[in-house]
Amino acid sequence: MKDIVCSFCGARKDQVELMVSGLNAHICNKCIEQTWRILNEERKPKSTGKPIFKLVKPVEMKKYLDEYVIGQDKAKKVLSVAVYNHYKRLMQKDTKDEVTIEKSNIIMVGETGTGKTLLAKTLAKMLQVPFCIADATVITEAGYVGEDVETILTRLLQAADYDQEAAERGIVYIDELDKIARKSDNPSITRDVSGEGVQQAMLKLLEGTVVNVPPQGGRKHPEQKMIPINTENILFICGGAFDGIQKRIASRLNTRPIGFAGGKEDKANMEENLLQYVSAQDLRSFGLIPELIGRLPVIAHLNPLDREALKNILTVPKNSIVKQYEKLFEMEEINLTISQDALEFIVDKAVEFNLGARGLRSICEAIMLEPMFELPSNLKLKEFVIDRKFAEKHFEKSADAKRLKVA
Ligand code: ADP
Repeated sequence: MKDIVCSFCGARKDQVELMVSGLNAHICNKCIEQTWRILNEERKPKSTGKPIFKLVKPVEMKKYLDEYVIGQDKAKKVLSVAVYNHYKRLMQKDTKDEVTIEKSNIIMVGETGTGKTLLAKTLAKMLQVPFCIADATVITEAGYVGEDVETILTRLLQAADYDQEAAERGIVYIDELDKIARKSDNPSITRDVSGEGVQQAMLKLLEGTVVNVPPQGGRKHPEQKMIPINTENILFICGGAFDGIQKRIASRLNTRPIGFAGGKEDKANMEENLLQYVSAQDLRSFGLIPELIGRLPVIAHLNPLDREALKNILTVPKNSIVKQYEKLFEMEEINLTISQDALEFIVDKAVEFNLGARGLRSICEAIMLEPMFELPSNLKLKEFVIDRKFAEKHFEKSADAKRLKVA
């Protein structure tokens, strides 16, 4: 009998791991593997030179944001338009158009816990692009102890599963930008490591440059091979609380001869949320260098959250805190109800501790700990109601009551 050989490469049966036989032919494992690779290559969408993504219109984008983020209408509109334009800019890339659309990096100004990070995160989720959060306070000028600017991109690359092309059209959220503001208004006497130098280091990144990124991050792995990332099409969204900027806005508005002529009521409204008038000038007087402000042309403000908004945050968003607890209990086949007055109590405490929406979660955790500990073992229970009395008792008992008070 003739030797069985692979009809594709001619290898003999004893030379390969596996030989599959068909009607009049045979194929070895190596040829199967190779064919599989070719098939996968062929199946990949052909590159048209243009990035592939779903272009979502601003109105739809805002609707999506509404499902997850309460209030902040203006910020949502500003973000939706900026992101839409950013993606239109990407689509324009190949054409020889005389009008080139400039990058629309964004800066969001608003108290802590009002939804800045949540907005950026939700946007990235909708657009299905890699997204990462970096903290401006850990970045230092090159040569100082701390993270280099490049490590921001390491996170993005990791979020993109090391897909360089995907990372190059991702979104980076840089938090606490206000913390790297120049401490003094006089630039000549300050060379502070944490302030102006870092702002300078960020300029190129925001504008668009090729950065050699250490895939493992940091300086701990000097042997690692750098990956070049072009930041030209990465959308940077910066955020910060900019505590005290209201004073600067107020004084700017007051010194203007027109515009503040309204009656008492107007003045009261203005003081309520002066952030809505925040301008590049105010950011500059807060301590951001003009070059950095110039690279963040879109300014959005976030409103402080009132009681109504806090209560809605607990219950309304698609994955609201209350819905999450209900789900956890549902998995134990227990129907959980949190009464209106218990919700009011949670809001009272969040307002008292002045933590914005951030406090809501910890307050809920403190109240829910005992039931979450006990109930899974109670197989008979089908219904569980948390009312104000229960909430008060469990919250006051917990260490969180004291911990949050100090915060
Ligand atoms: P910031 O970045 O402004 O400090 P975050 O976006 O991190 O605040 O908000 C902290 C948490 O509070 C979020 O995870 C979210 O659960 C909740 N939260 C804050 N603002 C809102 C909002 N407007 N709508 C819904 N949830 C919010």
